[in-house]
Amino acid sequence: MSTLANALPQNSDTAIIVPGSPNPIVLSYQQLVSQCTQFQAKLAAAGIGPQSAVSIALPNSLEFIVSFLATSWQRGIAAPLNPAYKQGEFEFYIDDLKSALLLVPKGAYSQNADAVKAGKTFQAAIAECYWDGNEIVLDMKELGKLQSNGPVSISTARPDDVALVLHTSGTTGRPKAVPLTHANLTRTMQNIQNTYQLTKADRTLLVMPLFHVHGLLAGFLAPLSTGGSVIVPIRFSASEFWKDFINHHATWYTAVPTIHQILLKSPKPSPVPNIRFIRSCSSPLSPKVFHDLERTFEAPVLEAYAMTEAAHQMTSNPLPPAKRMPGSVGKGQGVDVRILDAAGKAVPQGGEGEVCIRGPNVTPGYLNNPSANESSFTADGYFRTGDQGKMDVDGYLFLTGRIKELINKGGEKISPIELDNVLVQNPSVGEAVSFAIADEHFGQDIGIAVVLKQGTQMSGEELREWMTDKVAKFKLPKKVYFTDIMPKTATGKIQRKNVAEAMLKQEK
Ligand code: ATP
Ligand code: MG
Repeated sequence: MSTLANALPQNSDTAIIVPGSPNPIVLSYQQLVSQCTQFQAKLAAAGIGPQSAVSIALPNSLEFIVSFLATSWQRGIAAPLNPAYKQGEFEFYIDDLKSALLLVPKGAYSQNADAVKAGKTFQAAIAECYWDGNEIVLDMKELGKLQSNGPVSISTARPDDVALVLHTSGTTGRPKAVPLTHANLTRTMQNIQNTYQLTKADRTLLVMPLFHVHGLLAGFLAPLSTGGSVIVPIRFSASEFWKDFINHHATWYTAVPTIHQILLKSPKPSPVPNIRFIRSCSSPLSPKVFHDLERTFEAPVLEAYAMTEAAHQMTSNPLPPAKRMPGSVGKGQGVDVRILDAAGKAVPQGGEGEVCIRGPNVTPGYLNNPSANESSFTADGYFRTGDQGKMDVDGYLFLTGRIKELINKGGEKISPIELDNVLVQNPSVGEAVSFAIADEHFGQDIGIAVVLKQGTQMSGEELREWMTDKVAKFKLPKKVYFTDIMPKTATGKIQRKNVAEAMLKQEK
């Protein structure tokens, strides 16, 4: 497996199940490969060839899967976009990549959807894409710049071709465009297979969006390339989750902590199905939620650490009988991990510093962003993640925060993750997010946003009081903001900057 074009087995085993009534759509590997081959021919006929960018504004679906694979096989660059974006957001991404073609769902063109308006602004070709029961239709609505191209021949992807461009989440600034090659992606697929010992007997319930690396790599590409099956509902729904899991005999799933927490609050299936493992990634999983999950769903919980620039996974906790450590993101998985200081020197064992990584899964560098590339790679090729962490003697990594998000209270650096983990141990606290607020005296001080559990009451002073025997005095929050909803991104990520802004606004 060196490109996505030779990553899939070709047999009659089930590859994809799209749940639905009255009947789910079920495709074998042979059928999936044949769909992709047909779609690749349609793309070539439309003029999509080597390194043409195709923006895919489709929800999780068979049409997403086929158009994504076929684009990469045709040496094009797949650029998945959140279908819930508004016109201005679509314009930013389509312009950033100079997309040749934009794929939208059936009906989006006649409704002049936001994606379609953005596609027109940049004269991208626009096509509706849908499953008609036999094949994925590519219904060209506008030819845009492709008009001058004419049909091109069928291509064969090469390992160094860029197959995918995704943007980082923009947690710490403007989203950066990250190109990932076939070689990057297939390496991560291999790493994930090894970590979780995935086999063709595994079935994955995909609940993360395919427009981010988490869903695309861990929830879809890695399981598919082992010959297992992937169950693809259109989106995560707490009420459908266990139905799909049980009816389609899933063996594991991967998700962000927010989704695990929703499942913990929802009715639990009885009996609990056999779950080989639950994977958690993309945001910190508090040890409390880790234990609640293991107890409630009777399965090992494996927290992993990932980023777009690494084509997703960097580290993970291992399967039993090896030790998994609540609060740790585990060990490097086919990825070399180091902790470096600001000058780029390795810190002494156990010391805190910037997590840096090196491996064949890491992006060759951001698109059109020489200054970010300059500051993100060390002279010997390590990528600076921007995350702060420390490693124990056995190689288990503990993240302590993002370098840009550490709270710097008069020179004293405070880890917001550490505070969040303490706060959720309070029986009245449902969710808690700590962040920096401006302070005249210290430069920065600590603010916390809290969602109380239903039916509970507490004042900020009571919460501070409760914290006094759990953290040092300088880590007590200056301000406690109570809120009904914690602001999050589409993938359930907490952006501390946004939470801080929302709380300050709410206060006014
Ligand atoms: P930007 O780079 O634009 O600021 P981003 O870093 O949020 O956005 P992503 O690539 O989606 O963009 O996210 C990667 C980051 O997510 C990591 O650098 C890390 O901070 C965080 N992360 C991933 N997994 C975990 C985890 N298990 N625990 C804590 N943080 C995690
Ligand atoms: Mg980042």
